[in-house]
Amino acid sequence: MTSDDHLQIATTAITSGRDGSNALAPSLSTSSTWSSSGLEESNRQANALHQTGNYSRYANPTVEAFEHAVAELENTESALAFASGMGAISSVVLALCSTGDHIVAQRNCYAGTYAFLVGPCARLGIDVTFVDGRNAQEFAAAVRPGKTMLVMTESPSNPHLDLVDLTELGKIKGPFTLVDSTLATPLAQQPHDYGVSIVLHSATKGIAGHNDATLGVIAGDLDLINDIWAYAVLHGATASPFDAMNGLRGIRTLDVRLARQSETALALALWLLTQKNVTGVYYPGLKSHPQHELAVKQMRYFGSVLSFEIAGGKPAASKLLSALKLVRPAVTLGGPETLISHSASSTHNSVDIETKTKTGLSDSLLRVSVGLEACVDIKNDLENALKNC
Ligand SMILES: *Cc1c(COP(=O)(O)O)cnc(C)c1O
Repeated sequence: MTSDDHLQIATTAITSGRDGSNALAPSLSTSSTWSSSGLEESNRQANALHQTGNYSRYANPTVEAFEHAVAELENTESALAFASGMGAISSVVLALCSTGDHIVAQRNCYAGTYAFLVGPCARLGIDVTFVDGRNAQEFAAAVRPGKTMLVMTESPSNPHLDLVDLTELGKIKGPFTLVDSTLATPLAQQPHDYGVSIVLHSATKGIAGHNDATLGVIAGDLDLINDIWAYAVLHGATASPFDAMNGLRGIRTLDVRLARQSETALALALWLLTQKNVTGVYYPGLKSHPQHELAVKQMRYFGSVLSFEIAGGKPAASKLLSALKLVRPAVTLGGPETLISHSASSTHNSVDIETKTKTGLSDSLLRVSVGLEACVDIKNDLENALKNC
């Protein structure tokens, strides 16, 4: 599904995932099953890999159109959609790792990923070493040759906006490498171009982009995606065609949404730096971000998410959340509405204290998912609420 080399990625977002018909909008295929011409065709279907026209858990035309679009945007041979980002993460881990295998994972990551690695993986005897992803050498150093099956990373990380050096990660050979690229979306970075094996997204977030789909997707080489598909059909975290339709619809406007969100996020981050009761601001687009140069090198946009620390810790954060009128407290990101969350007590509530300390998940940290409202209105709302803290 490699995209035409001469097209800009913003254009590929419009041209990708077309089914060859004249319909401009995605076609919704709700059938769970298709009939065959007889025994021979049924047998062919039983032996087919990831092909439509048989049974929707194996493949569905609407889901396939979404997968083709993601593969084109990520510049990979293939992609596979799931019922959620976590459906993608759990399926990939269980497809590739067995009892006795080893995973190297970034400590600062989405709390669901962390919970899956310290919970079910430990129970199944899959050993996990956590490292600080900001120093790419730590991933390579933690690899145990012959034992490590997977190196799992997230860039930018949720919610602290740490980056992984994709060039360094892509050099790791032996284990499969994975980047959870949710906060970047395919419009901001394409990790497979750096040699990373698997690119993963919670398409619930920026890709679908309207808070109306729960969807995950991975992209990579055909053989690897087919291997994961063979496990995924048994795992059963299959993408719904309704959500895939919304995912594909979201891709069409992703470039303009991300451009606007990134512009607003940078303006808000710069303004937050000047506020007296704000003690820290994290956004890869800020020159003060410790990995700003890396962000410039590997990202087309700096993304819709920023985080900041408020003086006065949790009580001040609680006051802020209650005082906001336009910005809503909610846990997702990448949609049209600007949302705020106190990570330590909501999305990352389940993370142990030691890991919270190591990953900068303090009681002062607030994550903002910047939406599509006028920047000045978001700023005014934050300004009024900050006065009350
Ligand atoms: C939300 C999120 C996930 C999980 O995705 P779901 O669609 O909620 O299952 C994984 N990784 C990151 C970075 C996320 O933000």
